[in-house]
Amino acid sequence: MKSQNFNILFFLIVVCILATLWLALHCRAEAVREKDYSLLRERMVTSQLAARDITDKNVLSAMRQVPRHLYVPENYRHLAYEDYPLPIGEGQTISQPYIVALMTQVVNPHAQMKVLEIGTGSGYQAAILAKLCREVYTIEIIEVLGARAQKILQKYYDNVRVKIGDGYQGWPQFAPFDAIIVTCAPTHVPQPLAEQLREGGRMVIPVGEAGYQQLVVLTKSKGKLIETEVIPVRFVPMVDSKGRKY
Ligand code: SAH
Repeated sequence: MKSQNFNILFFLIVVCILATLWLALHCRAEAVREKDYSLLRERMVTSQLAARDITDKNVLSAMRQVPRHLYVPENYRHLAYEDYPLPIGEGQTISQPYIVALMTQVVNPHAQMKVLEIGTGSGYQAAILAKLCREVYTIEIIEVLGARAQKILQKYYDNVRVKIGDGYQGWPQFAPFDAIIVTCAPTHVPQPLAEQLREGGRMVIPVGEAGYQQLVVLTKSKGKLIETEVIPVRFVPMVDSKGRKY
């Protein structure tokens, strides 16, 4: 009887030791992965952003901090810091890191700003804005994407609000906005968005037909929008609730 008890005790001790070892190895692997990601992120900032024309220190710092790999589907995580867009499901994409940084930089983000984003997608652009601005409002038309983005955003930020709906209409309840970032492309500037931009505020938006658009910055001055062209880009189209292109 005594030796049977001893056997059970011995077995339990071995199981505990093995479980502790497995846990320690697992945590270490996770820590190594996180370290790898942070190295990849640093390389992304240096070679894709600072080496080009991203000069705003706060934007570079936000891009250095936000773990982009958490916003892409698991099977693409290893590519999260590469110099191109990636699929996020539902036929949509997360923009190339450089485009996210450029669109953020051209609206001159600062800590007192209230910003509206149209096209939440993965939630990554909203996360970058949340690091730099006081309040972020973001609208996504595809429910599953909006819900997924909201889940991750609310885990890390308390200054982001996500709405499922048609961003063409903006979010009048919280207007006017100091800046508006549109990450899907209409063929013309939506009038509701123009109206919801504060005097002196900036909107960055890709405008044009599917496959080829011009990224423009619109600055509101004396109630009028003054346009500056940035670069040619390729974004997914802005659509209404029936999937028709605007
Ligand atoms: N900013 C995103 C990029 C998303 S791609 C990111 O950081 O990942 C553009 C997104 O715009 C898609 O998810 C698409 O579903 C959404 N979209 C298209 N038309 C829209 C509309 N009318 N209102 C809101 N979102 C729209």
